[in-house]
Amino acid sequence: MNVSPLLASRALCAGYGDFQALFGVDFEISPGEVVALIGANGAGKSTLLKTLTGLVPLRSGSVSFAGIDVSKTPAHALVAHGLAMVPEGRRLFRGMSVEDNLRVAADHARPVAANARPWTLERLYDLFPVLAERRRQAVETLSGGQQQMVAIGRALMTQPKLLLCDEISLGLAPKVILEIYEMLPVIRQAGTAILLVEQDVTLASRSSDRFYCMLEGRITLTARSADVTREQITQAYFGVK
Ligand code: ATP
Repeated sequence: MNVSPLLASRALCAGYGDFQALFGVDFEISPGEVVALIGANGAGKSTLLKTLTGLVPLRSGSVSFAGIDVSKTPAHALVAHGLAMVPEGRRLFRGMSVEDNLRVAADHARPVAANARPWTLERLYDLFPVLAERRRQAVETLSGGQQQMVAIGRALMTQPKLLLCDEISLGLAPKVILEIYEMLPVIRQAGTAILLVEQDVTLASRSSDRFYCMLEGRITLTARSADVTREQITQAYFGVK
């Protein structure tokens, strides 16, 4: 049985001023899937994420989410459809406590079905116990890894169907990255699909069902993570023959 994609783009083109950054990108992620998007600096990963989420306007092509055309839907309205972003650099509300950062997000939550189990503060504190210990602390006093946990928790409090994570491992120690990545299967088991934008190719392929590689604004490889060879990745990543 074919599952309809949760998020899909078709022939997506976008850019900045005279500069075209995306060239005909076909991308999709199914409900409950974990997909990684890899590529070198400047390949267009962030632009794709921003175009999928309405932060950069598309020039041609289309984007659909849960079967609805969202090509012209602004970013803030997509949250109500079930799309949440963990942005690069986290962008937490400085001066506010951990718990208040999480509560603010809950105010923008998508209504969930009566039989669904929503993300709550308790559930997030089970996922990241250190946040329970630090819940009254201002977010800027936390370590980078703990701040990343708050950013993920804040996105989950909007009850997303899809979590978009933009380089969540950036600048973190390997042990902390592992701690965070170990929680992704728990989030997926709760029914949330995850898109991981990653520069760490090994981490990306180990943590995903499927991945896409981008180079100069185009998808150069899409494959099941378990099947792909290092040579295929290298070729797609650097464009070497
Ligand atoms: P990184 O891993 O460094 O974030 P990336 O794969 O996410 O790279 P993008 O940030 O999407 O790549 O950049 C794709 C191209 O678009 C690059 O050539 C970049 O210089 C250009 N670009 C990105 N943002 C802008 C902008 N605001 N204005 C003009 N050009 C931009």
